[in-house]
Amino acid sequence: MSVLDYGTGIYAIDLFEERKSFRSSAYVIRDERVALIDTGSAKSQEALLEGLAELGLGSEDLDHVIITHVHLDHAGGAGQMMQKSPRAVLHAHPRAARHLIDPSKLDQGARAVYGDQMDEIFGHLLPVDPHRVVIAEDEGTLRLGRHTLTFYHTPGHAKHHMCIFDDRSQGIFSGDMVGIRYRPEYTGWDFTYGFPTTSPADFDPDAMLESLHRLEALKPRRIYHTHFGMTEPAGEAFDFSRNGVHYINKLIQQLPDTVTYEQIQEAMSEIMIQDLRIQGHVVPSVDPLGVDLWLDSLGILVYIQKKQKLA
Ligand SMILES: [Zn+2]
Repeated sequence: MSVLDYGTGIYAIDLFEERKSFRSSAYVIRDERVALIDTGSAKSQEALLEGLAELGLGSEDLDHVIITHVHLDHAGGAGQMMQKSPRAVLHAHPRAARHLIDPSKLDQGARAVYGDQMDEIFGHLLPVDPHRVVIAEDEGTLRLGRHTLTFYHTPGHAKHHMCIFDDRSQGIFSGDMVGIRYRPEYTGWDFTYGFPTTSPADFDPDAMLESLHRLEALKPRRIYHTHFGMTEPAGEAFDFSRNGVHYINKLIQQLPDTVTYEQIQEAMSEIMIQDLRIQGHVVPSVDPLGVDLWLDSLGILVYIQKKQKLA
């Protein structure tokens, strides 16, 4: 099963990112116009095309490709997808658009984090024709037919992040803004767990709390997470995201100026184990969250170092 049906023409396609199921998804909204929200990386292109085919769609049927932010697990395959979708226009945050048109900085940034593994994990980045890129302004709208989408600029996870509110399902396509929803199929645990994602390079806890507040004021019913699936009622996702940020803020206050990556990683795994225990789950380790634990700890370290430079 690689396509999940959330009703009102909304589907999630499992992208098998990092060769794992229930890790990352792209969303399709089927209406008079067809929209794709996030493409995943270039490596997940095949899974995306297969998912579209399961819905009886081809890439040439796409009218709109919408990018939540330019991290590679969301937009690394945007160039390839736009080449295969001659009719589509691409909608992106103003800070994201230039990186989709010229991905060289994105490439450099990703290589700084992932090193030699970058090509293996995400594949190659292709530029998007600037004439096919539309800047998504804050509170700008896009009508697909029965669905009208509204874009919200939501810094915190990334400065180039936006979320998309769908009026028909009263849901928010949250990208990485309203936390990650770890499904049992991914972790091997017998429960679903939620935690914010603080990956580099511009995680900012205060901005994240502000964006969460702004999105919650829209009173959505549902959150459609990229990672992974849907949270309803939406309040649960806001709660676990905010709780996580509060833990992280407390941690940042306690850490010494000379903190190392290893210290942050150890503290973060302790925080997650404690958080799980409070929710009644005793786990031997948080190893199943390993990749994110690494990215989250790195993001927190980058944030602390930036703050020290400003001080
Ligand atoms: Zn992501």
